[in-house]
Amino acid sequence: MELDPPATLLLDFDGVLCWQLPRLCEHLHRAYGVSVAPADITDWSWSVPGHDVHVGEVIGDLMVERPEWFLDGAEPLPGVRGGMHALSEAGYDLHVATHRIPETHDISRAWLDRHDLPYDRFIEDVPRDKGALPGDALVDDYHGNVADALDAGKEGVLFRQPYSEPTACPDARVVDSWRDLRRLFGV
Ligand SMILES: [Mg+2]
Repeated sequence: MELDPPATLLLDFDGVLCWQLPRLCEHLHRAYGVSVAPADITDWSWSVPGHDVHVGEVIGDLMVERPEWFLDGAEPLPGVRGGMHALSEAGYDLHVATHRIPETHDISRAWLDRHDLPYDRFIEDVPRDKGALPGDALVDDYHGNVADALDAGKEGVLFRQPYSEPTACPDARVVDSWRDLRRLFGV
């Protein structure tokens, strides 16, 4: 990859640094009586069976109503700690760029500290179009964000999750793990 340090890497949070779906599934079971596994949620607007709501809306509600339980209990993705330290030590500038609501940013920063994940900046207000942020590359599990970054002339890396759609951002680099990501950036 031609993006050498000190390039600025914009890192999404959910689905890139952490795995939020286990808690979501736990909530769907308890609050809606729906049994579903994380791998079955193959779309961001996956409809909750028997209820007039989709998971994107459920996540929005959880961030407002139970942010500590939902966000603080998220699991770090395998290899994220070693990967972020390696990128940081190689001289990359790591900016966390999440669409979590700003009211939850203190919880998110505490989570990063607790799991020993280094970063240089936590962007307070992220526009819908992540391509509008200053930076050289975006790493994100949502194809729409990656497409926006590519449209803005950035490098786009799709961190593939069950609901990611690589065909929606055909010029993206696609990775399946932090091991892949480290290989891509040569760290
Ligand atoms: Mg995400």
